[in-house]
Order: sequence, then C-alpha cells, then structure tokens
Amino acid sequence: MEIINKKDDVEKCFRKVLAEEGSLSMEESDGNYFAYYDNENDYERHYYFNDTIETIEKRILMDKQVESFLPKDKLAQFLAVQLDVNAIMVIEKMVLLWENDEGMSPVRDALENEYGDEYAQYIADGFLGQTWVDRQMPVINVSSIYETSRVIHDDTLDPPFSEFFLESVLQTIFHESVHLFYDCNELISVGEGTPYPENGGAEAFVEEYGNAKAHETLQKFMDIVQKEQLDKFLSEMEDELC
Ligand SMILES: [Zn+2]
Repeated sequence: MEIINKKDDVEKCFRKVLAEEGSLSMEESDGNYFAYYDNENDYERHYYFNDTIETIEKRILMDKQVESFLPKDKLAQFLAVQLDVNAIMVIEKMVLLWENDEGMSPVRDALENEYGDEYAQYIADGFLGQTWVDRQMPVINVSSIYETSRVIHDDTLDPPFSEFFLESVLQTIFHESVHLFYDCNELISVGEGTPYPENGGAEAFVEEYGNAKAHETLQKFMDIVQKEQLDKFLSEMEDELC
C-alpha cells in the first residue's frame, strides 16, 4: 500500500509550526492526523498523514446519484495521483452532493449530524462548489454543476454533454482543492522559493489552474466513470426536465 503523505514529514512541519506560533496548542487526535487549536483565532486544524487510497476513500462522501456513475474507490485512486499531497493532507472530507427536487441531500444531513453544524445544509448551496474552510472540506455541488451545464452547453460547439458535464465536475474538484490548500494548510510555506505562488489562492489563479488541470486529466477521469450508468442517469434526468 503506497503511502502518500508520510507521518515523519507531516510531523516535522507540524512540530515546527507549533513551536513557532505561540497561539497554537496541540490537540488529541484519532491517530490519523495531527491537530492543533488556534487560541487567538478560535479554530482547529487537522493534518492527515500516512494516507493511502483506502484512507482517502473513507473521507469521500457522496450522494447516491453521484456514486451511481462515479465509484468511490476509483475516485480515491484518481485523487491520490492527481491531487497535490499538500491538499490531501488537509482534506477532512471530500464532499460530492446531489440535491434532490426538494433541495435535500442525505450527505448534508449526515454532515450536520456528525459535526452538529447546520451550516452543512447551506455550504455550496447555489454554487458549483465551495470550500468549507472551518471544516476543511471541498464541497462539490454536482447537481448544481449539472443544472448549470444544461443551461450553458452548446450542442454544436461543445463536446458531447456527458463529457462537458464531467469536465465541469473535475474543474470544480481541482478548483476547490486549491482553495483548500491555500485556506487551510498552514504548515506549508507559499511564495518565493516554493512551488506555490504567493497569490495562487486568488480566484483568477485558482480558476485558471483548475481548468487547466481538469483539461489535462479529463481522459483519465472519464476512464474511471461508469459510462453506461452515467448515460442512463443523464437520460433519466433529461426525461424529468421534459
Ligand atoms: Zn473559487
């Protein structure tokens, strides 16, 4: 089992930041991450280590509509290779929502129950995606991406709808993962002398990176999608619209 973010490496950065910043106090964890609490600004941060495809899979939450065409284990495999390790380190949950006709999502309910936080019902509501910074979660609103894709897809100029839709999902996954890194990972330095531009978390850069990375990896992403299930799902959705 290949390890993505080695415990020793994460621990070294964690101890360094903890020693440098007086406002941080170390917190207990379940043994999968290091945690501190920022007493000055009143928030907690978790840094996962020794991640494998299996541990990433455990932190993916999907509504059943999404899972019907995007197998969780395959997505974990894809993310393990394609996402920056320094973003993976701070993923508490990777969330892919599908809101039903009443705007409800069992995943939202599960998150509200687990964290006792009703903001789970509102995060990424009306957006393609949003990073829940307090809870270190990239939230991808797949039903919202679907609806938007239906509106803007051009039959003559764009690739087939299923491909167009998947590319938008992938763009949003990368987009939110960059926000997550810049907003949540306080162990890794950014700016001069690092692979991370100082302003890399600014919206225009995030947008550009997400779109380019999605374009580059789209074929690999399409390979993990269950094509027949997706086509069936999309045609059912279309029938509903009529
Ligand atoms: Zn953004």
